[in-house]
Amino acid sequence: MAAQNPRTPGWARGAVAGTMRGMNTSTSSPLPAAPRLGEVLRPGDAGYEQARALWNGAIDRCPAFIVRCRTAAEVAASVRFAAEKGLLLAVKGGGHSIPGWSVCEGGLMIDLSPMKAVHVDVGRRIATAEPGLLLREYDAATQAHGLASPGGEISHTGIAGLTLGGGIGWLSRKHGLACDNLIEAEVVLADGRIVVANERQHPDLFWGLRGGGGNFGVVTKFTFRLHPVPPVMAGFVMYPIAAAHDVLAHYEERTRLAPDELSLVAALVAAPPAPFVPPELRLQPVVAVAACYVGDARDGTDAVQPVRGFGRPAVDTFAVQPYTQVQQWFDASVPHGLHYHCRSEWLRPLDAAAIDALVRAGAGRSSPMSQVLLRHMGGATARVAADATAFRFRDATHILTLASCWEPGDPRGEVHRQWCRDAWSSLRPASTGGAYVNQLGEDEGEARTREAYGTATWDRLVAVKRRYDPANLFRMNQNINPQG
Ligand SMILES: Cc1cc2nc3c(=O)[nH]c(=O)nc-3n(C[C@H](O)[C@H](O)[C@H](O)COP(=O)(O)OP(=O)(O)OC[C@H]3O[C@@H](n4cnc5c(N)ncnc54)[C@H](O)[C@@H]3O)c2cc1C
Repeated sequence: MAAQNPRTPGWARGAVAGTMRGMNTSTSSPLPAAPRLGEVLRPGDAGYEQARALWNGAIDRCPAFIVRCRTAAEVAASVRFAAEKGLLLAVKGGGHSIPGWSVCEGGLMIDLSPMKAVHVDVGRRIATAEPGLLLREYDAATQAHGLASPGGEISHTGIAGLTLGGGIGWLSRKHGLACDNLIEAEVVLADGRIVVANERQHPDLFWGLRGGGGNFGVVTKFTFRLHPVPPVMAGFVMYPIAAAHDVLAHYEERTRLAPDELSLVAALVAAPPAPFVPPELRLQPVVAVAACYVGDARDGTDAVQPVRGFGRPAVDTFAVQPYTQVQQWFDASVPHGLHYHCRSEWLRPLDAAAIDALVRAGAGRSSPMSQVLLRHMGGATARVAADATAFRFRDATHILTLASCWEPGDPRGEVHRQWCRDAWSSLRPASTGGAYVNQLGEDEGEARTREAYGTATWDRLVAVKRRYDPANLFRMNQNINPQG
């Protein structure tokens, strides 16, 4: 028997014994069974602590209930229950929300992690995927057939939140964002109805789901377009931090020349203590350029040569390798449970001032685990019309991610957060305006969320929100307030 938790309201304790279990065990009257919500966990129950934990260890919230759902019907019953009881509702897919939107204090958290089915239709080149899948699980299923659809760069991220906010990764310049490859979604709406959204059915909802985050409902099934992705030529070169100016200038030059097949990332980080890193560079500040050529591996060998050939890299890991391997390169650099604070910005082509600011940001990191990351955008991502989806910034050249990271218990947490904010401020002059909605920090406020969409997209999102969630049940996210 779980301990009674003071955060659990009295009516709700009864509900757990009765209708929440779907069995009306607390009464002998012949009431019909309420629809099952899924496995209900309360504070003290086995599995509760694990289910409420997010990737960002700085987030520490305790829902009154966690419902671990296995089907769309269970999600629908949970949504209806939260709406009827006026409970704050959080929805957890892969749990990588950096500000922690997927767990609430009190209220009800829907945990989608049991929903991991994936089906690959090789003939039609589509995959249907449930929202509890992590990228590595989804990629493993599609790559078993030599296929893939765009995701992010860290394989322990969830497909759900990533896709709903956009989804940028190694395949994006060639094949678009994760959301550009979404062709249909099954969605549980705020009133508990289960609908299908695509270009023909609920097209306004389908538009909003592609960039608008979890504002409109709980997606219980994603259908993605797949592409052939044979082993890729990919790797990274690494240099001592003293080379940062030159290396970043070279990165910028290569991005201007890159074909769609070639994706580039620059990073100012600490070198890992890995065998492939010379001993004198391990754990030292470095600058690195990573590249992945999505296409014929022989063409890729030629395409990455200018990247590999620049200066005298201390490390060169380039090789033809499976895409799933590339997806896991950096997993260990951002482990679960550390404390994180992030900022992002869409950037124009880098000029000398921007490169200076990046180098200063990298050199001034207050924690060795903090990172300055730049990803080259463009290609297929930029060819989708600005109003085709709710994802806005298709004309940016780079996405900047600043991630401060420290051990739990480090008393300098606020110093690390401040480094992130200061570094971000110093890069604002290079901005195209606005942030990536999937990387907004918890302290940025509603004005920044509006900025992430721009006025035209924001107004359209508000109209969709009013239609599908007028009471703002789904508000644990980068919220689109139905009041506008
Ligand atoms: C280590 C790390 C690496 C990252 N790398 C990339 C990257 O390479 N590219 C990129 O584009 N982004 C990247 N991101 C950002 C990432 O896309 C977002 O954090 C994303 O929201 C994570 O999705 P999730 O399902 O894991 O998160 P969750 O915390 O589960 O959810 C995030 C948000 O989506 C909502 N949500 C989740 N599932 C559903 C659902 N089924 N229906 C409706 N709403 C739902 C939640 O309520 C919450 O508001 C990264 C983040 C981290 C922490």
